[in-house]
Amino acid sequence: MATLILHPGKEKSVLRRHPWLFSGAIAQLEGRARPGDTVDVVSHEGRPLARAAWSPASQIRARVWSFNAEETVDHAFFKRRVAAAVARRAGLPELAGQEGLRLIHAESDGLPGVIADRYGDTVVVQLSTAGADKWRTAIADSLQKATGCRRIYERSDVEVRGLEGLEAVTGWLYGAASDEQLVIEENDVRMAVDIFAGHKTGFYLDQRDNRRRVAALAQGRRVLNCFCYTAGFSLQALAGGAREVMSIDSSGPALATARGNLALNPQLDAARATWLEADVFAALRDLRSSGDRYDLIVLDPPKFAHTAAHAERAARAYKDINLTALRLLAPGGLLMSYSCSGGVSAELFQKIVAGAALDAGRTARIVQRLQGAADHPVDLAFPEGDYLKGLLLQVD
Ligand code: SAH
Repeated sequence: MATLILHPGKEKSVLRRHPWLFSGAIAQLEGRARPGDTVDVVSHEGRPLARAAWSPASQIRARVWSFNAEETVDHAFFKRRVAAAVARRAGLPELAGQEGLRLIHAESDGLPGVIADRYGDTVVVQLSTAGADKWRTAIADSLQKATGCRRIYERSDVEVRGLEGLEAVTGWLYGAASDEQLVIEENDVRMAVDIFAGHKTGFYLDQRDNRRRVAALAQGRRVLNCFCYTAGFSLQALAGGAREVMSIDSSGPALATARGNLALNPQLDAARATWLEADVFAALRDLRSSGDRYDLIVLDPPKFAHTAAHAERAARAYKDINLTALRLLAPGGLLMSYSCSGGVSAELFQKIVAGAALDAGRTARIVQRLQGAADHPVDLAFPEGDYLKGLLLQVD
């Protein structure tokens, strides 16, 4: 095994159990390692620190598998880590009965580069780093053993694989190939999940609790759901008794699935739903000039900033939509607003929204701070994992 020697002092973050080793921390690789190989990480003085996956193409040159420098990284290692991640979810009553569930949340479950989501008896895995890619078979086998699932599909077609020098990989890893439409039940609403072409692994599981919150708030309200994707928030609003729900997304296929999802739920009043295929930035302005008012607005945009370096441009975009949305609220109305940009902290996001309220001339109060669901935990040693933050605001 090759040995990764750090620059003097650069062991500090590893000692605080942060799993990333950036190129600037590395003095030398002693021995030979291919992408994804496991390397020993040692301090400049030769103190053993960790075992990590080597990613020569990435600025994050290595990601720690184990902070126990003696732990062997083999098939059995993945079996232990995967079983522990599945058991953690089983230990949380709110997650126990979920048909759609994130089983492995990468670094925060001790498995950098590995995402696994369960949709009924199908598990979808996404491997985004050289290390994760190398252990595909062990990870899939461990997932099957830990869950007893019928099928495992790989959706490793994320852009970040490019930074690792990896090509896109998709296909069945376990069980008979199937192109059957998957449907899960979430908060008593049925939702189709397109594991082949949908976003992420097919569904935004991280918003499960927040969608339920919308159901609880929707009674009698006029709701506007911006960036609706497959209508998760919209259908929860209808289930919660919304008077009317307008949903906006720029993606035709997403809206087609959204309409299909409404049809999957005959208990909901379809006459209360309207759909708009449009750019939210422009649509909000148009709604504003038409004099429309809403009682509850959801803003769940895509990631505007991929890294902190893009935070400024992202800030302008967040401010723009929040400003117009605040202006569109009726007195006493509610705004549920999110950022899923890793480069925008909760503190910065709150400042941006505060600036938007000021410019909109609306007094707004935080009713609740919102985050991802419990199957998307954040390891305290890895604050980068805390990507989803939201505010529930009430205006005067
Ligand atoms: N709230 C959704 C997830 C939203 S994902 C849920 O709970 O499932 C973000 C969505 O924003 C995607 O569907 C994407 O098509 C859409 N989108 C991205 N940019 C947009 C824009 N400028 N205007 C409208 N929709 C946009």
